[in-house]
Amino acid sequence: MNETAELTLSLHTILIIEDEAPIAAAVAARLRSEGLTVEIASDGHAGVAACERLKPDLVILDLMLPGIDGLEVCRQIQSNRAVPVIMLTARDSEEDLLRGLATGADDYMTKPFSTRELVARVHAMLRRVERQAEALRSGGVEALSIGAATLNAVTRRASLGQENVHLTPTEFDLALTFASDPERVFTREELLGAVWGYDVAAGERTVDSHIRSLRSKLGADSIRTVHGVGYACHGDMT
Ligand code: CA
Repeated sequence: MNETAELTLSLHTILIIEDEAPIAAAVAARLRSEGLTVEIASDGHAGVAACERLKPDLVILDLMLPGIDGLEVCRQIQSNRAVPVIMLTARDSEEDLLRGLATGADDYMTKPFSTRELVARVHAMLRRVERQAEALRSGGVEALSIGAATLNAVTRRASLGQENVHLTPTEFDLALTFASDPERVFTREELLGAVWGYDVAAGERTVDSHIRSLRSKLGADSIRTVHGVGYACHGDMT
């Protein structure tokens, strides 16, 4: 890693909201050793307060927390500004996962997880956010449509008619990926690579969950399923 990259990374602040101190400490130590600024909150209320104060670049959020649980914390921190969230869950339950993603988590890991893998995902997500900021600075098309919704690539806001629609960073990027190339049918692997920046077996479920969430927010007809292949922007099937 060169000096410039280290300098860039050190400007990033990560907030860990986790009540299991050994897990929080292990993740924090690993991230700090890579030059990131890390703060830990050990319950939901402290986490929401720390998020408002620090305005972190990314939040690692445990689902099972004392006080208010992770889903509610996620909802509260996402209501002010869209911050990428990686959720930690103790149970590999589809229901928890779907609720977490619908509440605004961008990614998740099931405990016990590899600290190394978590850190790799943190970096992938931070790089993704930076790449997009760079793409926006270099100009391009501002408004794109997906189904009946409109995406503004500069302000990163989505709207349906006159109404603003709140999308998480991942949902926005996913929608933008489809809208930027409306003729194309994307496989789940391609979407994982384009939006999440990595490729894991369990990742396909993550793609499906986010598609469901996007459809519920932007309209069922915003994205169509191409059976046996993947997904595409809604359009004429002829
Ligand atoms: Ca916990």
